Amino acid sequence: MAVDLHTHSTASDGSETPSALVEMAVDLGLSALALTDHDTLQGIEEARASADRAGIDLIPGTEISLDFLGGMHLVVLWLEPGPGPLQDRLTGLQLGREGRNAAIVGLLADHDMPMSLEEVIAESGGGTVGRPHIAAVMMQKGYVGSIAEAFDMWLGAGKPAYAHRPRLTPEEAIGLARDSGGVPVLAHPHTLGINRSHEMADLLVRLRSAGLVGLEATYSAYQRHEREGYADLARRFGLVVSGGSDYHGSYKPNLELGIGYGDLVIPDEVMEELRAAAG
Ligand code: AMP
Ligand code: ZN
Ligand code: FE
Ligand code: FE
Repeated sequence: MAVDLHTHSTASDGSETPSALVEMAVDLGLSALALTDHDTLQGIEEARASADRAGIDLIPGTEISLDFLGGMHLVVLWLEPGPGPLQDRLTGLQLGREGRNAAIVGLLADHDMPMSLEEVIAESGGGTVGRPHIAAVMMQKGYVGSIAEAFDMWLGAGKPAYAHRPRLTPEEAIGLARDSGGVPVLAHPHTLGINRSHEMADLLVRLRSAGLVGLEATYSAYQRHEREGYADLARRFGLVVSGGSDYHGSYKPNLELGIGYGDLVIPDEVMEELRAAAG
């Protein structure tokens, strides 16, 4: 059976509630669903209650952004809500977001695109507030025509309304994840911005010795040859070939749960491999 190991709900910047995601996963015939909202485990309780009723496996998780030139995201699977080494750091990461979001709103005002922080928070529906919510408000106000345009023109790294926020280093985050009983997976590796194979090799050796377990090779946005390329890379460096859709509902148009842009298949054996590799 198929699974999805990377998804977002209203607990961060997805448009669907945790229970709705579980229902969609059931309708698709998935055997397991990981909820990996940015910097939070807030949606897990609701998702788990629905999953228990529906008889589907809910994997608690989160996705965190790390301090790395070009950007690095880490999906942490099997991270239980409650106190713990990584769990305790999530609140601090959320506070860092609040300052960053206020800075972005200020920069947008400087460029004649006023909006209030309250409007952004209302758009977020109460969970972790992220740039996609700001992008959605920009769209509603007619400043941009799409979420993608908001990022390409204003919100993306190095663009005029980009603001930095404090992040964990890769080693810190991977160590904290392992100490918390979580299984760290390097998300969508193309966003690292690494083109040279020896640089990628050095990085994977470094992350693997820090405790990295998996590499997200089966990813919605990848063509078949890219999935195969990243899968080969994972195997060469002793990492499990993981996968996920990175579903965000209406914030990522046309990208569907479980199947991505239609051709994504993540076999459930991946879960056993990840757990076995993490020991
Ligand atoms: P944040 O966590 O607030 O920094 O925002 C990161 C979120 O923005 C992630 O969910 C990404 O999927 C989304 N994102 C980043 N770059 C883009 C882009 N170019 N177009 C659309 N969404 C993006
Ligand atoms: Zn997101
Ligand atoms: Fe990501
Ligand atoms: Fe994601």
